[in-house]
Amino acid sequence: MRKAGRVVAEMIEAIRDAIQPGVTTGDLDRVARQVLERRGARSNFLNYPGAGGPFPAVICTSPNSMIVHGIPGGYRLEEGDIISVDCGAIVEGYHGDAAFTAPVGKVSPLASRLMEVTERSLWAGIDQLRPGNHLFEVGRAVQDVAEKAGFSVVREYVGHAIGTAMHEEPQVPNYWPGHRGPKLQVGNVFAIEPMVNAGEAETRTLDDLWSVVTADGKLSAHFEHSIAVTESGPEVLTLP
Ligand code: MG
Ligand code: MG
Repeated sequence: MRKAGRVVAEMIEAIRDAIQPGVTTGDLDRVARQVLERRGARSNFLNYPGAGGPFPAVICTSPNSMIVHGIPGGYRLEEGDIISVDCGAIVEGYHGDAAFTAPVGKVSPLASRLMEVTERSLWAGIDQLRPGNHLFEVGRAVQDVAEKAGFSVVREYVGHAIGTAMHEEPQVPNYWPGHRGPKLQVGNVFAIEPMVNAGEAETRTLDDLWSVVTADGKLSAHFEHSIAVTESGPEVLTLP
């Protein structure tokens, strides 16, 4: 899983370097494909089944009010946009999964603060991944950071365990579900992925049956890492 995580980290770095005004989301998908090819890794996103049919790309690209699952294509990034990118890879049968939101050129103070808070909420969640602690403390920590900043946490889409499949049980809510959940053990690996909205938490799915947007049209950010629970605490496998 460390190997898969390193490939995902490399995808993140290459995509970050490519993000600028004028570049299309399809261009970013091509950058990601080159990394997978170079490392002999397979994609866990390509052909992933969904209501909108098999997913046609190796990353998801979700600009501005789009929360997750955007399909790369002709959308051209503009100065002032924010763009969420979700990446994954399979190496020797094991999966890595991570996401980030980046500014395109100069962005509004609100957009900057939303990205900063969302990333900070991810790290607050990661810090809970210690043996003996309980899994749903992650959601409590994420929610606390996001809501103290005046933002809201998406409920319909959540983190997950990860291993020989991308999405394994149990799910990891980004909010406090009312109980502490399973006890964490050394060797558990989770993808923690807060989606934080500038406005209300409600979501809407577009006609392509993949793209999920905020119901109120306000901005959304998404940060994710795959993390192993080790004796000495969380080990982030997808860190560039
Ligand atoms: Mg992901
Ligand atoms: Mg994930």
